[in-house]
Amino acid sequence: MQVKLVSNVLKANDQIAADNRRLLARGRTLVVNLMSSPGSGKTTLLERTIAELGEACPVAVVEGDLFTTRDADRIERLGVPVVQINTEGGCHLDAQMVRAALEDLPWEGRDILFIENVGNLVCPAAWDLGEDLRVAMVSVSEGDDKPAKYPRMFREAAAVVVNKVDLLSMTDFSLDRLEKDLRLLNPAAPVFHLSARTGEGLAAWVAWLRGRVAAKRDGAATSGVAP
Ligand code: MG
Ligand code: ZN
Repeated sequence: MQVKLVSNVLKANDQIAADNRRLLARGRTLVVNLMSSPGSGKTTLLERTIAELGEACPVAVVEGDLFTTRDADRIERLGVPVVQINTEGGCHLDAQMVRAALEDLPWEGRDILFIENVGNLVCPAAWDLGEDLRVAMVSVSEGDDKPAKYPRMFREAAAVVVNKVDLLSMTDFSLDRLEKDLRLLNPAAPVFHLSARTGEGLAAWVAWLRGRVAAKRDGAATSGVAP
């Protein structure tokens, strides 16, 4: 009974996610769902990425958080439109929450809409929000076993970010071990080794994002979707 209930809820979510995708397709905005454990540095990565992208690549942000507005406050300081979703203890974002956030967010005409999901490597992977692509992040301080332990998150990622590489020499983290486990699940996703804190490795990640923005724009142009 309970299993059936969960599957119905997910089905309803997928329909709303499809609506979100249709709505967002009216613009040429690339929608990125950023997922990781708590404390891997999602907000810091967003801060650095937004600064690096600059004004030529306007973005908007949806911040998922359990209770506080701390992350949204950090993004707002950059002058970027941001809407906070407080899940009040809920451990993931769902499509309905994102739908509601979009109503309050001037996302149209922005190149990228980042959605920072609730810090959790498990259930956010099961909830489609209407995004174009998912980015899974793991930080060096968490250990290199995350892809093996949380396969779904990494299997469906369009890119994987390994953050806090400035801490590598202080840990037993092996980039090779992570890559080996990851490739069993996801042979093609690019992996970006970076430190959002120091800025090391950030350029390759930002260049990849710019490429995806351009591809989205070209796709919209060739498919005749109005800007
Ligand atoms: Mg955060
Ligand atoms: Zn959850």
